[in-house]
Amino acid sequence: MHVLLKIFLLCGLLASGWVQALQLSATRLWPSPDYTRITLEAAQPVAHKYFALSNPERLVIDLDGIEAGAALDALAGQLTAEDPYIGAIRVGMNRPGVMRLVLDLKTAVKPSVFQLPPLGQYGHRLVVDLYPAQAGPAQTADSEANPAVPPQPGAAGLAKPTTLQYARLITVAIDAGHGGEDPGALGASGSREKDITLALAKKLKQKIDAQENMRAVLIRDGDYFVPLAQRVTKARAVKADLFMSIHADAFIKPHARGSSVFALSENGATSVAARWLAKKENEADLVGGINIDVKDPFLKRTLIDLSQTATINDSLKLGRAVLKELGGVNTLHKAHVEQAGFAVLKAPDIPSILIETAFISNPEEEKRLNDPAYQDRLIDAIIVGVKDYFDKHPLTAPSRLTRNP
Ligand SMILES: [Zn+2]
Repeated sequence: MHVLLKIFLLCGLLASGWVQALQLSATRLWPSPDYTRITLEAAQPVAHKYFALSNPERLVIDLDGIEAGAALDALAGQLTAEDPYIGAIRVGMNRPGVMRLVLDLKTAVKPSVFQLPPLGQYGHRLVVDLYPAQAGPAQTADSEANPAVPPQPGAAGLAKPTTLQYARLITVAIDAGHGGEDPGALGASGSREKDITLALAKKLKQKIDAQENMRAVLIRDGDYFVPLAQRVTKARAVKADLFMSIHADAFIKPHARGSSVFALSENGATSVAARWLAKKENEADLVGGINIDVKDPFLKRTLIDLSQTATINDSLKLGRAVLKELGGVNTLHKAHVEQAGFAVLKAPDIPSILIETAFISNPEEEKRLNDPAYQDRLIDAIIVGVKDYFDKHPLTAPSRLTRNP
């Protein structure tokens, strides 16, 4: 910074009473198919204002009391040409005590700007989410007409009419746990749960797509955060026949090991451990960051209805089939499917399970979770379990995404 500017800034601050200038401690940029997120982290809440400008489209964010620093300088460098919304990021002192961030936009956006209190590894976060102008966070979370996960173009081609194993194409929604701001659990050797779940989910998709009459849709396919309710919405938007959330959590006891499978519960958790885990998983929204001012369609549904009971029964059957197969690959943490109030399993009409593949907190299991051969064995076991479930409970209802046989 120029000496003159510094003096000018100092005078301004002195004139308005002494204000302790603050540097951002971190900046992060998370592009995703649905929205691009900018996270500005600091030791204190950052007072701010923002406004949009047109021709060309820009979003201006003024940060009060923020001075230049390494973290702020690093923000523009994180931008890639592939970012769906941001063309360029410019940062500069706008007036004494006010740092201005200008986002040059590729298209009109609907911003969602909110603060998050310190949590876990994070300090105060100011989050700027950029949604497409037509959608916005509320509509995206509740729109079937505009599914966040579009049907795969080649999906119909998977249904080979010669050997129809199932009545129709089965759509499996695969949810890689955590992502973006939410790293999930951390292993002793530095593995992050969000990376392991994504690797497993991608492999699982590949192998499911190779099955006769099955296709998989990834709820997230990169390193970004998807709010829990939106994961459910996305699965419903693609008319998923089942939903599997993949995890590899830490546990209270570091030597805990083995695989477990969970379903939603209607009346409380089946064990203290299951309740603890559901609480921890549901905190993903706090770590990953959601704007609580945006209405969540699932919050309204407080009572579990009759269709949910039937769905939970199917989830338990699916869970048992998968757990049985996982038992051939890994020791089982619990020999039965446990239940608790997992937010991500709340689709009223899609059998949904959460698979804890192994404990990342157990050094031996962390090592195996990173081993491609072991990942393959885990995934093959899950697929055998899923096929076993559909063999015993064939689908009959038509799916809108399936062509007629
Ligand atoms: Zn997890």
